[in-house]
Amino acid sequence: MCIGPVNRIFHWGPLTAIAIIKIITLMTIHCSRQWWSPQESLSGAVNFFLFFSLSGSTIYHFITAIYEGPGYLPLKWRPERLEDTQHLQFCRICEGFKAPRSHHCRKCGRCVLKMDHHCPWINNCVGHQNHGHFAAFLASAVGGCCVSTVILICWLMTVLSRRNINFPPPSVFTLVIVVFTIGLSIGVVLAVGMLLYFQLSAIVRNTTGIEDWILEKARYRRMGTRDVFLHPYSIRWGVNVRQVIKWSCEPDGDGILWPVREGCDQYTLTREQGHQKQEKRRRARRYRVISRVSGSWVPITFGWRVLCHPPCTDEPRMKLRPEDIVIVTRWRRHWLFGEKIQEIDDPKVRVKGWFPRTSAIEVVDNEDYDSFKDE
Ligand SMILES: [Zn+2]
Ligand SMILES: [Zn+2]
Repeated sequence: MCIGPVNRIFHWGPLTAIAIIKIITLMTIHCSRQWWSPQESLSGAVNFFLFFSLSGSTIYHFITAIYEGPGYLPLKWRPERLEDTQHLQFCRICEGFKAPRSHHCRKCGRCVLKMDHHCPWINNCVGHQNHGHFAAFLASAVGGCCVSTVILICWLMTVLSRRNINFPPPSVFTLVIVVFTIGLSIGVVLAVGMLLYFQLSAIVRNTTGIEDWILEKARYRRMGTRDVFLHPYSIRWGVNVRQVIKWSCEPDGDGILWPVREGCDQYTLTREQGHQKQEKRRRARRYRVISRVSGSWVPITFGWRVLCHPPCTDEPRMKLRPEDIVIVTRWRRHWLFGEKIQEIDDPKVRVKGWFPRTSAIEVVDNEDYDSFKDE
């Protein structure tokens, strides 16, 4: 289920992002030509050039992040040395081992090299291959929107105070669009700025969104002991940053073999991940469904407590029938997360998700968990 780069763009995420970039660019060019014309002053020309390059760089890195993709691990991949497979997880969909830092993306349907997250705005994963372009896209978008916010607000203030008689008074329609664009532009600065901050802080520490989660659990598991878990891929911040951020945005290495810090090896993190999965499997409990669950994100029949305390994730909600058996691995006060046991054990049609806690009861007499395979 690998989607081509052209089909990736025809999706609500990229189309909305391109529409936002276009509106902001066109309105900023329109207003800056009137208020701070590049033909009339040097500062105007510099400003125009700055905005033009940031806007161009935004669209270039955006398209390249989609087009290049995150880089996929070859199907049926195996490490060179057979004994290394003992440290690695197996992906039953790609029918191969997962290389260190690779994870399977359900939306892309492939194991992704150094997977960070699946981004709906680029309708693709952010990973080893496009990490640099993605970071450059975020930075250019924030920079460009800062400049455009200043230009648009200055234009609006000039119009409202009627100081500049050089350009004709704008129509109400233009005014409304400019105010809307200012809102859009400030929105981008805040939202994308926050994303950029998290991305940069992860790049400095050489982690990904998924690895941050594993590291947090690794520290939690060692709480109260003298054992400290060090992130194996974080060498020095300068080295970490240079792996992703450079002029060409091309990544270092093949995305499979990674430089690691002293005292760690290629499989330090994957072994820790394996231990965490084993622990999760030991904690797993079997539940029997007692009332029908529609799989809706707003299950009104389960009362306001369930409605008001949804699990804050975009993970799926599960549709269940009475007598279904679910292996639960995560608990919230009003919700449970697990995998439904099915007659045919096919990794491609596994059903996992959240469901209201009151819809099922725990089966105390725990049978074997052989049929339960972790993700
Ligand atoms: Zn896979
Ligand atoms: Zn993906």
